[in-house]
Parts: sequence; structure tokens; C-alpha cells
Amino acid sequence: MTNDTPSLHFIHQIIEDDNRSGKHGGRVSTRFPPEPNGYLHIGHAKSICLNFGTALKYAGQCNLRFDDTNPCKEEQEYVDSIQEDVRWLGFDWGEGLYFASDYFDQLYEWAVQLIKKGKAYVCDLTADEMRDTRGTLTKPGKNSPYRDRSVEENLDLFERMKAGEFPDGARTLRAKIDMASPNFNLRDPVMYRILRAHHHRTGDKWCIYATYDWAHGQSDSIERITHSICTLEFENHRPLYDWYIQELGIYAPQQIEFARLNLTYTVMSKRKLLELVRDKHVAGWDDPRMPTISGFRRRGYTPEAIRAFCERVGVSKYSGVIDMAWLEDALREELNKRAPRALAVLRPLKVVIENYPEGKSEELDAVNNPEDPGAGTRKLPFSRELYIERDDFREDPPKQFFRLAPGREVRLRWAYFIKCTSVVKDSKTGEVTELRCTYDPATKGGNAPDGRKVKGTIHWVSIPHALEAEVRLYDHLFNQPYPEDVPEGKSFLDNLNPKSLEVVRGFLEPNLKNAAPGSRYQFERLGYFCADSKDSQTGKPVFNRSVTLADTWAKIEKKEKK
Ligand code: ATP
Ligand code: MG
Repeated sequence: MTNDTPSLHFIHQIIEDDNRSGKHGGRVSTRFPPEPNGYLHIGHAKSICLNFGTALKYAGQCNLRFDDTNPCKEEQEYVDSIQEDVRWLGFDWGEGLYFASDYFDQLYEWAVQLIKKGKAYVCDLTADEMRDTRGTLTKPGKNSPYRDRSVEENLDLFERMKAGEFPDGARTLRAKIDMASPNFNLRDPVMYRILRAHHHRTGDKWCIYATYDWAHGQSDSIERITHSICTLEFENHRPLYDWYIQELGIYAPQQIEFARLNLTYTVMSKRKLLELVRDKHVAGWDDPRMPTISGFRRRGYTPEAIRAFCERVGVSKYSGVIDMAWLEDALREELNKRAPRALAVLRPLKVVIENYPEGKSEELDAVNNPEDPGAGTRKLPFSRELYIERDDFREDPPKQFFRLAPGREVRLRWAYFIKCTSVVKDSKTGEVTELRCTYDPATKGGNAPDGRKVKGTIHWVSIPHALEAEVRLYDHLFNQPYPEDVPEGKSFLDNLNPKSLEVVRGFLEPNLKNAAPGSRYQFERLGYFCADSKDSQTGKPVFNRSVTLADTWAKIEKKEKK
């Protein structure tokens, strides 16, 4: 991890060089081009931060362009969610909202232009035949028998393809480049296929659809994109990208590739995310365990944390897998500064303060955020009967366990010192069901006037005042860091973590009663939690665990076991 002023990465170096040489007249124009066939994920966030961030840095423009060339898989729901997610991340495309489908007429005209130049032809080979004549890495492909059709015949056939005279898949339009090229993308790639499918914007106007390669670069050119930033798998499409632009003689954007983001304990392919949603392994695209932007949002992530994470992972040509812990750390850092603290007990153990009068209660002052003096204080009700976390008591405490145990004194956060005097157990199971304690009234606020110290501070809630609420404890969706690495016959689904969601009834300080949906808190000593944006109601919040705190006790225990 680096500081906040990283040195220029290679893409910004290219841009600064271009600005110096005046290559694009000093203009910087980028685009983010999602295909509307799923919700955006954290990998897209990296691309969004890079494209929009670059435009901001160089006072340029970044367009949001829906790459909707593939009519079968696209839906309005995805178009809407993508816009919402980009905006939520904090970016603005201004006037620059486009759809590749807006360019279908222009693309068709350009295709006709290439036919007239003798650079494209209508081919009658079936998909199978085309595959069989493509050649291999070591063997050149074979020219299609239709490659030398006359310009007139090609123009006629292409127009009739458009007019719907031929069945789906019967013919294609192909660029006439070089069947012997070492680069497969240049072996007469398909530009158009016949496909009768309803398009979410153009309806049934078209029955021929452009391929990605034919549509993408030309769309960039129409929008006068200067730097067309994409992921590495398009590196060997670049010669084709440049070929189309050059043959058409139109404005030439520059394609630059960077390594995609991969994260441990999750999957990022849209196909797999769709499978998780469709087969109900998760509750939807915005399930808080999903690596989607909407999932992270619902989980309690902030746009700032996601942007900080994208900045830290940097931009390079080398693919790797980033540890999910980086993302979690970015969130902790951010919420540590801005999340108000609250007391909540998730696995309760009852404590009775024997020397505290029955029926009495009082209000104690608690600091809202020690990291932010401006956040002020609040009142916490205290009474004779409390819940503490079951984990904060051990009948037979191991070394270095500084919390409550028989005969031991600890501090209750913002309250008093208490001492455990006896333990009540279930006569059948032997389970501890209640602790009897005494408190020292002189330690109000958490300090002893005689200067005596306690080693542990634990959190608590007053039972008669507590707000009972559903709390959802989320963990990684997969229990393997590389869930897609599976032996033959196994699926990434076999690595789903059966414990990725645990629902508990928690007891919260009453101040949380009116927590607004989407609001974030640190439950002291437990982690950061967010009131669920869908299921929370005023007066009846439901909390999602966004991320745990770095758990020192778990680390100590691990060390002792070794
Ligand atoms: P699919 O999973 O269907 O192949 P995709 O991830 O390529 O889809 P697109 O909608 O085409 O999805 O992506 C839009 C943009 O986001 C593209 O420019 C793509 O390069 C970028 N992008 C997608 N995944 C990542 C990732 N993991 N890291 C960085 N950028 C990404
Ligand atoms: Mg794609």
C-alpha cells in the first residue's frame, strides 16, 4: 500500500506524453463501456475509477457507453443499475451517455464502405465450417470460397441480409484481411451476423447485429475518445481495432490495455455471478455477499473506501489476485474515521449487579467517536441487569485473557468497574446462564479514584432498555481464496462457504432504534455494521455486518495453538 500521492502509472504517463506532444490536441476523453448484461462488480469499479478518474485528473470527459450490441442478453434493469452504481461511486458522465446501438446506422454505412473498398465480403460458411477453416496457431487458415465475390454481389447480399431475406446464421459479413495472419483476430473476422432478436432499444428494426470488434472501435471513434482503456484480453484485438479505423479513415483513438482486477474469496465473471443469482445461492445481485457494487453498498461499503482501494491496487500490465483483506482494510480505515460508535451484544450472557438497586436506572455519557471530537456524546441507560458478550467471560481463563472471570474485575465501557462474584449454571447442561457481579459506584465513567487498574474493558447493554434486532453476520461467499481453481468435474459452486451468513438476534443500545436505512456504525469491539437499506424500518432496524475489526484475541489464540 502506498501513500495518497502515488506516482504516475503507465497510462497516465502515456497521457502526459501525448499531452506534451500534442497528439490529441491536449484533449483527454475516455469512456466506460459496460455491456448491460449484469450488475457491475468490483472489477468494473476499478475500470470506472480509472476512466472517470483519468478524465477528472486531466480536465477531460468520460462517457458512459452501453455496449449493447448483443441483443439476447441485455435488459433495462441492468442499464438502470449500472447508472445508479456509477453515480454512487461518485462519478458523472455529464452529457456523455451513449449506447452503441445509437450507432447501428452509421456502422452499417461504414460496413458498406468497406465492401465497396473490397475490404469486406458476405460469406456463406456455417459457424462450424468457419471454425474448421480458421487454421491453428501453427497452420494458416483457408480462404473462404466466398472471399472473392464481386463488390456488387456483396452489396446486394449484405442489403438483403439486412432486409431479412435469409435465415438466422445463414450468412455473415466478414472483413477481408489475412487468413494466414499469426493473429487469429485478423483471419477475416466476422463483422455482422444474422440474428432475429428483439433489442432493448432498437426493437425489431435490425436482424443483423455487429460483433464487439466491429462496433467497439468505431463507437470510440464517433465519440472521439482519445484513450480507449480496456483490459488485457483485448491486447491482441488491437491490430484489428486499428485496421478498421485505418481502412475507414476515421478519427483514431488509442487503445491501451491494463490488467483486470481479481480478488480472493470471490468470483468476478458475470456468467458466474448470474448463476449465483439465478440458482438462488444468494438473495439477489445486491446480496451483501456479492462482489457487485450494489452488494458492497448494501453491505455498508462507502464509495470513498472503494475508490481508495482502487487507487491502492494501482494500474499495471501484470495480472494478479488481490487479497480481499485490502478491500476490508480500506473500509475499516474509512469507517474508523466517520462511523459513530454504539454498544451491541450479539451473543448475550446475563449479568446481575447485586449491589445496584432494583428498579433504578441512570444515564451515562458515552463518546460517539473517539476519532472525531466533533461527533459529540450520547446517553447510555444503565441498570441492574445487563447483557455482556458470552465470549467476554471465561470460567477458567487462559493466560492473556483479560476479560471477565470469577473473582476478576473489569471495566464496563463508559460505565463502572464490575467484579464477578458467582456463576449461575443450568443444572442439567452445566452451561453458564448468568453471572452475579458487584459494581463500584466510585468508578462511574470508567476510572477508579484510588488509581486501581483493570486490564479489560468490555461492552454491554442494559436489558430493560435494549433494542432487540436482527443482525446478519456476513463472511466470505467462498471458503477458498481461489474458488475457481477446481479439479475436473468440480465447480466453483462446490467452494461456496456454507457459513457465509449467520443471522442472530442482537441486543442493541436503544439509541439505534431510529437508525436510518444505510447508516453505518461501529459496534464497539465487534466490527462495522450498516442498517440494511431494504429490510430496515424506522424503529425496527436490521443490521448487516460490513466488516469485523482486526480481532486481536483470535490472533493471540492462534499463536498459542502453534
Ligand atoms: P464478461 O464477464 O461478460 O466478460 P466484462 O467483465 O468484460 O464481462 P463488460 O461489461 O464488458 O464486462 O465490462 C465493462 C468494462 O469493465 C470493460 O472495459 C472491461 O474491460 C472492464 N472490466 C471488466 N471486468 C474488469 C475487472 N475485473 N477489472 C478491471 N476492469 C474490468
Ligand atoms: Mg466484456
